[in-house]
Amino acid sequence: MNTGRSAIDSCDGRTAWASFAALGIDADQERKQEEMGEETTLEARERHRRVLVTGGAGFIGSHLCERLLARGDEVVCLDNYFTGRRANIAHLLTNPAFEMLRQDVTAPISLEVDEIYNLACPASPLHYQFDPVATVRTNVQGAINVLELANRSRAKVLQASTSEVYGHPRVHPQPEDYWGYVNPIGPRACYDEGKRCAETLFFDYHRQHGVRIKVARIFNTYGPRLRSDDGRVVSNFIVQALEGRPITLFGDGSQTRSFCYVDDMIDGLMRLMDSPDEMTGPVNLGRPYEFTMLELAKLVIEASGTRSEISFEELPEDDPAQRRPDIKLARERLGWEPTIDLPQGLRKTVAYFRRLLEI
Ligand code: NAD
Ligand code: UDP
Repeated sequence: MNTGRSAIDSCDGRTAWASFAALGIDADQERKQEEMGEETTLEARERHRRVLVTGGAGFIGSHLCERLLARGDEVVCLDNYFTGRRANIAHLLTNPAFEMLRQDVTAPISLEVDEIYNLACPASPLHYQFDPVATVRTNVQGAINVLELANRSRAKVLQASTSEVYGHPRVHPQPEDYWGYVNPIGPRACYDEGKRCAETLFFDYHRQHGVRIKVARIFNTYGPRLRSDDGRVVSNFIVQALEGRPITLFGDGSQTRSFCYVDDMIDGLMRLMDSPDEMTGPVNLGRPYEFTMLELAKLVIEASGTRSEISFEELPEDDPAQRRPDIKLARERLGWEPTIDLPQGLRKTVAYFRRLLEI
């Protein structure tokens, strides 16, 4: 069991490309582009944007790099591979419009670019709590570095912020003008407060230096290329179900999250980047349908067609009880609406993990 996972994690670019072709990733991507009618035309080439994606070898970042390349942009991917993987971008390395920089976002960046998506930061509680000081530094120094670069190159810059800025929300669903309720000294604070400070920096650079900014507050996003050891709920449940192990449900499973499929999220992020300059955000991006974690566990068992038991485990400290985005702003100003419902998205994600784990 699991030979697929280790082959992909450890392989070089060429082997990874072959493995991903075998997993059907390229075929999926081609189909996706056709369905979405992506521009691969001369017009797109003429626009010829050079786009930096920090965290581009991660889960969301690698999908974003693909979609930008598909519409004719040049893409520079910057990543230190903390949670990202070469395998996620190996199939892009032969594309002359794609470049990979192995670098930490906390080190100064000298490039000339037109647009920057700042995604560099571990997103799973397991990984961002591994070295909390590094997480704060990545968020704060990383934001300063991309903002300095944007200021120098007159580039537009988009920050991948998070629903975690709302903390334990006292307002439900969460609109963008809710300031949140965050514990500044708890185990999640390195991420929550790091992301809040990054938002502050974005708006200060905007007011002080006129940098063109976009702040997206991303709600729980899932799909192919989540790591099997990522630690977030969707990948944990699917891998456990496929391996016939008990599903680890934290607390009584009554806490809620609203899950967005990765293709919809990429569409939202690109629409925000392409929106008029006055549209700075913050803007919520997420699918506004709420599920308890117990409901999610049952849906995953159904989508996987297995008979895993549910094992109730301790609820982590400061685990938010409720999450649902109010997406009125994204609907009205970006014309954005997620299209893939949870059962559909789970089926696609289960199919991915089946191929990855060779189950
Ligand atoms: P991920 O962990 O798969 O990707 C993060 C990427 O950033 C990885 O490739 C990692 O190696 C890289 N990275 C981390 N620290 C770095 C550093 N110091 N320098 C350079 N690269 C670094 O996570 P993801 O789910 O793809 O999340 C991408 C972004 O979106 C993150 O900023 C995250 O906070 C944000 N976000 C994601 C979600 C979600 O549900 N997926 C929700 C809210 C916000
Ligand atoms: N969770 C769970 N079992 C797991 C992993 C997570 O029950 O194996 C719960 C977790 O306690 C939280 C929810 O699922 O209530 C979402 O967790 P995740 O780490 O995916 O994201 P976040 O808490 O940052 O929204």
